[in-house]
Amino acid sequence: MLDVKKIRQDFPILNQKVNGKPLIYLDNAATSQKPKEVIEATSAYYSQYNANVHRGIHALAEKATAQFEASREKVAGFIGATRSEEVVFTRGTTESINLVAKSWARKAANGGHGLKAGDTVLLTVMEHHSNLVPWQLLSQEIGVNLEFIHLTDDGYLEEAEETIKRVKPKLFAFTHVSNVLGTINDAKKLTNVAHDIGAKVLVDGAQAVPHLPVNVQSLDCDFYVFSGHKMLGPTGIGVLYAKAELLEAMPPFLGGGEMIKEVYLRESTYKEPPHKFEAGTPNIAGVVGLGAAIDYLSGIGMENVRQYEESLTAYALKKLLNVEGLTVYGPAKVTDRGGVVAFNVKGIHPHDLATILDQEGVAVRSGNHCTMPLHDRYGVVATARASFALYNTQDEIDHLVSAIESAKKVFRVS
Ligand code: PMP
Repeated sequence: MLDVKKIRQDFPILNQKVNGKPLIYLDNAATSQKPKEVIEATSAYYSQYNANVHRGIHALAEKATAQFEASREKVAGFIGATRSEEVVFTRGTTESINLVAKSWARKAANGGHGLKAGDTVLLTVMEHHSNLVPWQLLSQEIGVNLEFIHLTDDGYLEEAEETIKRVKPKLFAFTHVSNVLGTINDAKKLTNVAHDIGAKVLVDGAQAVPHLPVNVQSLDCDFYVFSGHKMLGPTGIGVLYAKAELLEAMPPFLGGGEMIKEVYLRESTYKEPPHKFEAGTPNIAGVVGLGAAIDYLSGIGMENVRQYEESLTAYALKKLLNVEGLTVYGPAKVTDRGGVVAFNVKGIHPHDLATILDQEGVAVRSGNHCTMPLHDRYGVVATARASFALYNTQDEIDHLVSAIESAKKVFRVS
């Protein structure tokens, strides 16, 4: 088990009062807090070896490049990639998905990869907008069909295997863990079924990598994407993992410095992946900070993180379901969910609820959490969402529940 007391000391931001009450930060699905190791690593880059990467031969440039590439190795190791060349740095999950949609998907002629008019992209109704809109844009541009796996009342994918076999997609893109329902999808099994009918598979790991052990080789997915800022790292840095042969066949995403081998006035040749996809000066401090976040999480062990967060989620579900008039969305079985609990309290708009919780020092998110179609599916415009990280405690969940009870009193909801 984790030593949460000790872990909390690593997160300076947690030690403060908000509206006169100790901060209880339960908005980790939006972004996590950062341990001092990450803050210090980022600061050390700027204060000790700030230089551009891959270009200079002076000492600072060499150190910056070495740290930058060391972080790539750490990412590869953390997600079980075969080699670090399969790790492309992006700005985040959203950019990683757009990269696949702009590069791989729009290049049907390239080694048989990509999509053309009439091909099907299969998505699910639980996707974050960042795994919907890029495919809508592609559909409008080149005429691919979009199909969807629907959801059961209790927050699971409905007839997933049957739908894959029926619609025969060229690409199946789905979230590993839902940022609203918390559902952990069986990414390995779904990938297998999709591969059997010849589809490529993209997995959105934004809510999985920070909370579960993830191994892309074991999943065997073709693309896996995630963001640094939800896994204790800085904002503005993310990852696209893709199988080497796919990256090799994919055309560049953005053009500019860094990604080229030779440039002539009318044409250029490109570097090998991953550099082919990293045009311009990258977010060096972000990459260094992400490396420190991975060191921190690895030091604790992702099995331990999962185990702890699962027990916290079990506790939260039990407590919240005892609140009269409160509805929780997503699976009842805690082993099927990550540490995300979206809920509504009868008679209180989630924005009002979140405002009152904030007065009690409790930070939750309210709204549609970038999943409007998911909210439509459950017939609600918005939900309140508490989401946990390795530094949260049962005591904080008790405070959440008593703050909800106070809100009910304010709104005279019995
Ligand atoms: N997918 C999921 C499941 C998410 O939870 C999020 C962030 N809320 C994203 C994608 C988008 O991540 P980012 O904003 O870091 O690009």
